[in-house]
Amino acid sequence: MKSSMPLFPKDSFLVNNYVLTGTEGTLVWDTLLDPRAISEQSTAYTHQPVTAVYSHADWDHCLGTDGFQFTEVIAHKDAFERFSTDLPLEIRKVGRKQAPEWITLRPVPPTITFTCKMKLEFGSFHIELISLGGHTSDSIVGIVPDFKLLLAGDALETIPVVNDAASVKGWLQALEKLSQRSDFEQILPGHGNPTDRALLYQNIDYLSKLSKGDSFEIEDKGPFYRKTHRDNLQRMRNFHEQNNQ
Ligand SMILES: [Zn+2]
Repeated sequence: MKSSMPLFPKDSFLVNNYVLTGTEGTLVWDTLLDPRAISEQSTAYTHQPVTAVYSHADWDHCLGTDGFQFTEVIAHKDAFERFSTDLPLEIRKVGRKQAPEWITLRPVPPTITFTCKMKLEFGSFHIELISLGGHTSDSIVGIVPDFKLLLAGDALETIPVVNDAASVKGWLQALEKLSQRSDFEQILPGHGNPTDRALLYQNIDYLSKLSKGDSFEIEDKGPFYRKTHRDNLQRMRNFHEQNNQ
């Protein structure tokens, strides 16, 4: 089950979360950004235990957790650290501008963390969580071979959002490794519609062009991704200039 909500009121840019129900538990992949949304959604959490997984600790993926008492909240080790470092700062910064009610939010840090890989069982399916890095150091993806799914968070996106140009090489390598696996077909991204492996190949192609540091044009994907592409190019240019001095 996929649910989406806008990042800001009346915003057309949406974030997704996904609920997968197994015979021995419920998996909630990301928690949107409002506890009320998760509280409403929780009627669909039919099988105990109910486990939340954060694809990463960016505010738009993890602020709804307080709307339900999850059995466990699982994320990468770096995500746990972000709950006491950049996440509170980001919430204050974005909240001041866009969403004053965030003052009352109580972000729920992960209760279990991992660094490389972790497997979770839900009876009729299991998920393999894999550290991927790239977009953020705590970015993970989840492969559900039983349903041939890849839960991608922001590791795959219409246009990948590069926060740190130094991470692009490793990100590209991790995606190339992922592309060698044949146990998923459908891709469920953190933003945008569920899609197929084409998104993975497009992201590999994009990041490999970007890593060369030259400017290149992309097909128009709307204002958010126009800006993302401009920012990515600028970050990469700065990175190459610094490293060629
Ligand atoms: Zn995001």
